[in-house]
Amino acid sequence: MKTRIAPLSEIPAAAELLKQGEPVVFPTETVYGLGAPVFDEEAIGKIFAIKRRPPDNPLIAHVGAFEDALTLSCSPPPTFWKLAHHFWPGPLAFVLRKNARVPPAVSAGHPTIAIRMPSHPAALELIRAVGQPLAAPSANLSGRPSPTRALDAWEDLQGRVALILDGGECRIGIESTVLSLTGSEPLLLRPGSISKEEIEEALQCKVSLPLPDSPVHSPGMKYRHYAPKAEVRLVLCRDELKGPFILSPDPRPGERLLSEKTLYAELREADRMGAAIVEIDCSPSLLANAALMNRLSKAAQIG
Ligand code: AMP
Ligand code: MG
Repeated sequence: MKTRIAPLSEIPAAAELLKQGEPVVFPTETVYGLGAPVFDEEAIGKIFAIKRRPPDNPLIAHVGAFEDALTLSCSPPPTFWKLAHHFWPGPLAFVLRKNARVPPAVSAGHPTIAIRMPSHPAALELIRAVGQPLAAPSANLSGRPSPTRALDAWEDLQGRVALILDGGECRIGIESTVLSLTGSEPLLLRPGSISKEEIEEALQCKVSLPLPDSPVHSPGMKYRHYAPKAEVRLVLCRDELKGPFILSPDPRPGERLLSEKTLYAELREADRMGAAIVEIDCSPSLLANAALMNRLSKAAQIG
């Protein structure tokens, strides 16, 4: 299959491909997504094949309007509406009980479904043009760092998808926060740029974290995500950094900036340069960033 990178003026063409059941890569504010209409079971199957994604790793449904949640979940709880109106459109996905219309493959056989409304205007326009939510995991091959630029998606998926919509660099750069609302209290399944504290502030109640020895609540979290080919080393003492490939939140000359926005592009750059080792300067500010530390410990295979 020939893969075309297209400007955002081709959103109508991308919507047509999607309506015909052909997955398309599109930009969101977090990372690039590989989308398919959520109720099209065959197209959903193609997402798993294209990405080589394990079938037990569920997808997030991206909606274009608040009410779309009602096409996916029977009776979202009041906390859902409260938090959605506070944080949507934006990088927060909610896990709710799913209805029978959602194909089981979308949620990897679970009785729940993850839902979010992205804030990227192109993503919203595309979803609304298709006329139903788009199930969309990150547009990378499973296990590779998520793509934050059209060329990153091309690097992984060329020859495997028909169209990549180019919306430039993603504003946020790491995947959404995932919050489960299926239990007695909200449970943070995946940290992201919307923090646990911000959610607690909006809700005026505590959000819990999964217990370390509890069964995996968020199925995708068990995989070695976010990893480059290079070995990633977390270095606690700045004096022990050796180089040459160093990522730091506060880079010195010769080092590279580490931020939510730059992490994945830099991991891909390390692979392009053939770096054997990527060293991470674990400064106190970085250690306090739950979302970045979650991705880094996975990349370093210690999480
Ligand atoms: P991504 O690969 O960034 O699209 O994110 C998908 C991730 O969201 C999965 O790997 C899970 O960790 C989480 N997720 C999606 N659906 C569910 C669900 N039904 N229950 C729990 N976690 C989910
Ligand atoms: Mg992913």
